Amino acid sequence: MTTNVYLDHAATTQVRPEVIAAMAEQMAVVGNASSLHSAGRAARRVVEESREQIAEALGASPSEVIFTSGGTESNNIAIKGAFGRSVAEDAGRRGLVVGTTEHHASLDPVEFLVERHDARVHWLEVDHDGVPSAQSLRSTLEQAGESVALVTAMWANNEVGAIAPVAELSSVAREFGVPFHTDAVQAVGHVPVDFAGSGADLLSLSGHKFGGPQGVGALLARRDVKLVPLTHGGGQERQIRSGTLDVAGIRGLAAAVSAAVEELAAENDRLVRLRDRLVERALGLDLGISVSGPYTPGDSESRLAGNVHLRVPDCDGDSLLYLLDAAGIECSTGSACQAGVPQPSHVLLAMGYTQHEARGALRMTLGRTTTEEDVDAAVAALPAAVERARRAHHAGRNSA
Ligand code: PLP
Repeated sequence: MTTNVYLDHAATTQVRPEVIAAMAEQMAVVGNASSLHSAGRAARRVVEESREQIAEALGASPSEVIFTSGGTESNNIAIKGAFGRSVAEDAGRRGLVVGTTEHHASLDPVEFLVERHDARVHWLEVDHDGVPSAQSLRSTLEQAGESVALVTAMWANNEVGAIAPVAELSSVAREFGVPFHTDAVQAVGHVPVDFAGSGADLLSLSGHKFGGPQGVGALLARRDVKLVPLTHGGGQERQIRSGTLDVAGIRGLAAAVSAAVEELAAENDRLVRLRDRLVERALGLDLGISVSGPYTPGDSESRLAGNVHLRVPDCDGDSLLYLLDAAGIECSTGSACQAGVPQPSHVLLAMGYTQHEARGALRMTLGRTTTEEDVDAAVAALPAAVERARRAHHAGRNSA
């Protein structure tokens, strides 16, 4: 039995008990949702009811829900699919407007399109808090709008928790007739998401970020958005996404979305209090720690309620992570290693931090199971971990 404190809910979070129950029940039942016999039709019914449930929870219509294997696939379909369609109709429309702090699940498909398909990127810059502005999107589109296939901008940032003005951004894109995609993987189930109200044409979500199963997600896509498919086969999902549907996973996804959306307001209040307690106590340790991203105590409109992102000077985030892990606190630096080598986060660099400042990043993300005791345990573990990480940092610099 582990007594570890899990503070990495943005990486993945516990599957809700009602989701496990629903999936277990479904997994015991045979049926391919594309089969015509009774078992197939029963599976199809589960899929369609789940589609309706997800649409209802997120302000979409059922026919806008395309099931996928999660955020990475949804982003790939949106970005490559919209680009492919745009170029097929007009070879000159190969521009992509991309937020500088996007997740690699968006940045890497963009890079692929640049390298292999001559896409042109226009970066949508963010401010020092990690928030892009509608004004800067407007200037980009004024200059390049005619040649842009898609704007992609995330709803909430996975590292620093910054929440973007999605409705403003999408309305600017619409003015210029450019489709707008938002990676809402960190937003769905955590902030109110209304697909129709957001004005987005495409929206990615992923079950395992809000108590659903890993490996199941969806792309919400307006009916008038044109996408070329990336996979070819049975054409199960609007001819855009092929492959036998994961009926149990889809049922679990729907159960998780409904539960998360229903609890959202109360859970947000609880998490904001825990987040603020963690920030206040960490800053009070007199270790020179500061917070990155938008931060006002009590606020969950500009920053995710469960996100704490700290910068600890004269430390390597990775050393801190391992030292805290050894002390039973599981958190993250927020940025991924590239081939096992820790890199300063592209998000912090895009926000204007130097390489040096970006080194000591520590992300603690709170979720449904987080308690006050967890927060206090994390704060209590910080001084010793920071002291040892600093010693290692100085030793490394002196021997370099
Ligand atoms: N987009 C964002 C903002 C994320 O945080 C993640 C996961 O960390 C993804 C996309 C990828 O989602 P998935 O793990 O479902 O592929």
